[in-house]
Amino acid sequence: MKGIAVAALMLGACAFAVAKPIPSARQVPSAKRGVPAKDVPLPRPKLVSLSPAAQVPTGDAEAEPSACVQRLQEFARFTARPSKDGPGECDIGDVIELERIVMPDGSLVAVNPVATLACPMAEAVVHWMRNDIAPATAKLAAPPAAIVTQGSYDCRGRNGIRGAKMSEHGRGNAIDVGAIKLSNGEVLALTDGAAPKPFRQYVRAAACERFTTVLGPGSDRYHESHVHLDLAERTGGHRLCQWDVREPAVAAAPAPELSSAKRQQPQWRKRRFRR
Ligand SMILES: [Zn+2]
Repeated sequence: MKGIAVAALMLGACAFAVAKPIPSARQVPSAKRGVPAKDVPLPRPKLVSLSPAAQVPTGDAEAEPSACVQRLQEFARFTARPSKDGPGECDIGDVIELERIVMPDGSLVAVNPVATLACPMAEAVVHWMRNDIAPATAKLAAPPAAIVTQGSYDCRGRNGIRGAKMSEHGRGNAIDVGAIKLSNGEVLALTDGAAPKPFRQYVRAAACERFTTVLGPGSDRYHESHVHLDLAERTGGHRLCQWDVREPAVAAAPAPELSSAKRQQPQWRKRRFRR
């Protein structure tokens, strides 16, 4: 009975995710509809094949570079690592430390902190940045300089709960993204209403087309300050796209009891357990 109940819950979750419309990039509102005036280009994100991440890679990227590692050399700067000898399902191969992404114009975007990922997931992140994020930042104040990460490979249960189902982080198949930092120093936190809403809407639409799981604010209490992306494979090809792009917060007078340092702390710095 317990198994049936869990299965029913999972089906319900999938049905919710499928029923929730995923806006295409073309549906992102323009500045004419009352959003910040910066004009963000809206090319449609390209779909990516999900098959490379269907199985957890087993090869040793350091000793014998996989086809994925060889492909990635053109688009990223990284260090191939020995297979992870973690407990249980955390024993993964084809591991790299993703350090920089080579953008289409030849500039480098730092991955900060460096992300430890299985190569197929790293490849998806690289192409998300190159093909989806780069066009969206073209008319912002400055080009992207860094992708601010909040987690990558981590052998643990979902949301840091002991005994929970293994997180995709434990397979090197997930990354938590807090913000995109521009070369002028501006930080666009993906979950912060202060960042241009059309930009955040575009990033959401692109992420939900490229990754099979996207969890942000509105999905659960663990994803209020970052966006979780992974390539989990589900029965029937179901996807989870749960990220409410929120309105900018109404300006309010600062509470007198808060120190200025605390008020200025960006949202993405608030770490929590996460999927
Ligand atoms: Zn995560």
